[in-house]
Amino acid sequence: MTVTTGGALPGAPYDVTVVGAGVVGSAIARELARLPLRIALVDASGDVGDGTSKANTAILHTGFDAVPGSLESRLVRDGQRRLAAFAADSGIPVEPLGALLVAWDEEQRAALPGLAAKAVRNGYRSARIIPAEEVRAREPELGPGVLGALHVPDESIICPWTTTLAYATQAVRAGTDLHLNCRLQSLTPGDPHVLSTSRGPLRTRHLVNAAGLYADEVDRLMGRADFTVTPRRGQLIVFDELARGLVRHILLPVPGALGKGVLVSPTVYGNVMLGPTAEDLDDKTATGSTAEGIALLREKGRRILPALLEEEATAVYAGLRAATGSEDYAVRAHPALRYVTVGGIRSTGLTASMAIAAHVVELLADGGLAVSGAKDLEPVRMPNLGEAFPRPYRDQRLIAADPEYGRIVCHCERVTRGEIRDALTGTVPPGSLDGLRRRTRARGGRCQGFYCGAAVRALFEEGRR
Ligand SMILES: Cc1cc2nc3c(=O)[nH]c(=O)nc-3n(C[C@H](O)[C@H](O)[C@H](O)COP(=O)(O)OP(=O)(O)OC[C@H]3O[C@@H](n4cnc5c(N)ncnc54)[C@H](O)[C@@H]3O)c2cc1C
Repeated sequence: MTVTTGGALPGAPYDVTVVGAGVVGSAIARELARLPLRIALVDASGDVGDGTSKANTAILHTGFDAVPGSLESRLVRDGQRRLAAFAADSGIPVEPLGALLVAWDEEQRAALPGLAAKAVRNGYRSARIIPAEEVRAREPELGPGVLGALHVPDESIICPWTTTLAYATQAVRAGTDLHLNCRLQSLTPGDPHVLSTSRGPLRTRHLVNAAGLYADEVDRLMGRADFTVTPRRGQLIVFDELARGLVRHILLPVPGALGKGVLVSPTVYGNVMLGPTAEDLDDKTATGSTAEGIALLREKGRRILPALLEEEATAVYAGLRAATGSEDYAVRAHPALRYVTVGGIRSTGLTASMAIAAHVVELLADGGLAVSGAKDLEPVRMPNLGEAFPRPYRDQRLIAADPEYGRIVCHCERVTRGEIRDALTGTVPPGSLDGLRRRTRARGGRCQGFYCGAAVRALFEEGRR
């Protein structure tokens, strides 16, 4: 098992290198790890899942509203099935709450039959239109003026952080080399391709570009210019867990021209999120929140669920979608170059990740990669971060066997020393306090680390020694 965060890279060529250890690249590395090949997964960051994959709305979509016939439609549908099964096996929290697409005016109500028909064209047959009274019975706290809704019973919420970590963990345990703090800077195509990285050269026969927002730039290093990524920012507000009782479903708007619109959704961590905005920008690092963005969300949220706005917000954050101007993914295979680019994975990449991975391996095979001899991977069991499932601080048997699970460090999120220790000694340990939060929830609650920050930092620094 190899995870490296510094120093020179191995000199021998890899069979396949995946650039980008977000949810998509990690899923691809995991799928490749089933094969008897030398695989590298590299990321510029010091952790996996540190880009867009850490900041989304965390919905496991059914794909009911995709563009029928698109690659995205197929991969979201397939990915949802794959990830739901993988999550159940590996302990990734998922809650199948269902979604309500709420119509607030006549135009939106008139759009519901078309959306129901579109769901069928996308292979999803369980969506149905429900009248205002049923919507209100299901969601008593909705604001006034509801005219009806499309009920999509299989939309679910999921933990995005554990998903990426589970993929990377399984890949590394199966022999993949994960090289972090390793930015691809330039490359010389050839056989092997020679990648010039911030940690020196890396040679590889096949290359997968899963660089998210930077996939267009990596594409150009390869002599291609198939698409341009325009970051589309999504700002979100997270409300305290006291708001959780206000909402039972994922509340979606009827979609508009700029995508899925602003939603209200419970999270698996037991709080409620409101967002995201959709702002086209030209800065791929602009993950800050703005006063205008937050004001817009509050205005929209007040219409959807007025009581939510009376609750305390614990955090705001923003993620950048890798939009390309196309209504579909930009997955391109270049068999002669032994190169696959996985671009434009905008707002459904978490859901589709496992299906994208299977698709990419097929494309690599077209470029001559030997894909015979696939083995089953050793199952992984991830620590549970979900509020709807047993957590260590409540497990008397676990605490009796190991008292560290009874010693709470982060009181808002009820995270124990045992969980922090496990994260720090895990297969893919965190590279930062934020990475530790994504593995344990420590510092993620109401006080945002005001009370527990020093203790968590001390454990983090001690654990890294
Ligand atoms: C606001 C918002 C809400 C969303 N909601 C949902 C949702 O509810 N459900 C859903 O399924 N999807 C959702 N998505 C989409 C989903 O989050 C993305 O599709 C997914 O995270 C993309 O993953 P990725 O691995 O392609 O990109 P990233 O996570 O960005 O990973 C790319 C990685 O490449 C690395 N990298 C870049 N350049 C280089 C380089 N030169 N060298 C080395 N490494 C490099 C980066 O460091 C990064 O870690 C949402 C997205 C946003 C922004």
